[in-house]
Amino acid sequence: MRWRFWRWFCEGEVEPDSPATEALAATLECFGRYAFDLPDQRAREIQSRFQKLAQQARDGQVQGIPERVCEHRRAEQAFVAQSLNDLRELTWQLISGMARILQEDGEGDRAVRQQIQKIAESPPTEVQVLKQALTALTQMLEERERRHKQTLQQMQSQMGQLLQELEQARKESHIDPLTGLYNRRALEHHLQSTVELNRLFGYSAALILIDIDDFKRLNDTWGHTTGDEVLKAVAEVLVRVCKRKGDFVARYGGEEFAIVLRETTLKEAKAITQKILDAVRREVFQLPDGNLLTITVSAGVSVLQEMEEARAWLERTDQLLYAAKRAGKNQLQAA
Ligand code: GH3
Ligand code: MG
Ligand code: MG
Repeated sequence: MRWRFWRWFCEGEVEPDSPATEALAATLECFGRYAFDLPDQRAREIQSRFQKLAQQARDGQVQGIPERVCEHRRAEQAFVAQSLNDLRELTWQLISGMARILQEDGEGDRAVRQQIQKIAESPPTEVQVLKQALTALTQMLEERERRHKQTLQQMQSQMGQLLQELEQARKESHIDPLTGLYNRRALEHHLQSTVELNRLFGYSAALILIDIDDFKRLNDTWGHTTGDEVLKAVAEVLVRVCKRKGDFVARYGGEEFAIVLRETTLKEAKAITQKILDAVRREVFQLPDGNLLTITVSAGVSVLQEMEEARAWLERTDQLLYAAKRAGKNQLQAA
């Protein structure tokens, strides 16, 4: 026991596959799964780096892990602080633009008032003075109009930039960085709106839950990079098969995908799922050692029932997926 502790202390090695290393590995995986893009690192790279760290933890090689996590958190913190500053800066530019317009208008108003006073005070016989004052007045008004247009254009482009950034942030919060599919949060919103549409207009809808078979073994045997390639390939198959406008495809867990098909019957949904199962079986992956790898998936398929809640619908379909797994995987179960 003392020797083991001494090894841990000196070499950063702990007992592999212990509850502690498993907890650490799961935490690291979770960190990676919810990574977001940083200026010099894509979320996908961060995810695979954390998966490697998780593997290292499972192997008992914990040395250096706290420092790497700490370094990453620092980068994230710097990025968030920078983004907030940028937003503050942009807002400030808009406010100071408005203040400038008001101030310049105030100065312009004073000059205009002076010219008007000149006109009012000059005797009607002094045509030359009147002419000069009127010309000056016209120039001032033209100048003011030009200035307004310019400031308006500047503000419009700043507003456009701000709106684009906000839209991008909104989209990213609904997108899974690895596959580009919708994420779990987007799925929950979509299921809720599907249920509401069903109640209002009686639209039918189908839900397909898909889970890659024996994915853990694939990861353990071929590594997380291959695992990630498989996830991306499955995502592509799903998008290829469910290409109707309005078809909704999400990755809602590690190797779990969900598809919501509106105005679709159970029979149609089963046929589409069968197509997916066949297409996945046909996918062939070239492994680093030259070997070829094929995979299978299991699926649960159901249609929304009258007055069913989104959560209950998801759970019921998950039970069907579970039944497909128990029945031997590589198949679908529908109800
Ligand atoms: P089953 O056939 O019963 O579904 O078994 P399984 O091995 O596919 O399922 P299990 O839930 O045991 O394992 C899922 C694995 O998916 C474990 C986890 O390490 C892995 N995983 C989760 N997210 C990712 C990811 O983003 N990339 C990779 N490569 N693996 C991931
Ligand atoms: Mg799973
Ligand atoms: Mg699985």
